[in-house]
Amino acid sequence: MADAVFIGIGSNIGDSSAVCKAAARELARDQRAACFTLSSLYTTSPVSDIVQRDFLNCALRMSWSGSPEALLDCLMKIETSLGRTREIPDGPRTIDLDILLFEDMVLDRPSLTIPHPRLHVRKFALVPCLEIDPTLVHPRYGRPLAEFLEALGDEQRIEYLERIGEDEIYPARNCCTGDT
Ligand code: ADP
Ligand code: MG
Repeated sequence: MADAVFIGIGSNIGDSSAVCKAAARELARDQRAACFTLSSLYTTSPVSDIVQRDFLNCALRMSWSGSPEALLDCLMKIETSLGRTREIPDGPRTIDLDILLFEDMVLDRPSLTIPHPRLHVRKFALVPCLEIDPTLVHPRYGRPLAEFLEALGDEQRIEYLERIGEDEIYPARNCCTGDT
């Protein structure tokens, strides 16, 4: 069982707030996933040369009782079920689900790199992860994620949008809020 798995969620097509929440809800329904902590939603500028709408992004931390490959498969199925098609690289997307961190695992497979290879250079991934746990350390580089965030300039915009209510996401069985 992996106790601290961080997933990045993003969307810039359609009702992105609803889509991000629907993705988290789908993941919470999986029997292998539990103990969710969700970040706030953020409005972020696209990190791409393609002109496109701002994104909404958030991240979640959960435990996962399967392999990292099984998790990637689960995320890709959720992307498909929410209407994602494989479009232009770095172009607009209905939903993007990435494995950002899988405890302190470092993995280099052709179809899966952990931590996510661009986690440390993307504010839209760093800020929501650090909201959940400000003490996170990058397993590959051995340095605090907060240091990578400080090193990024002003080019990438990120603004707090709203908190996500826990009742919008979790079925009761997966809820680890501690006060129920
Ligand atoms: P990106 O999220 O980098 O903009 P895509 O979502 O289109 O691009 O990329 C999906 C592909 O990236 C997947 O088919 C998957 O094999 C690969 N990939 C490699 N590492 C990861 C990871 N940590 N999380 C999600 N996808 C990954
Ligand atoms: Mg992706």
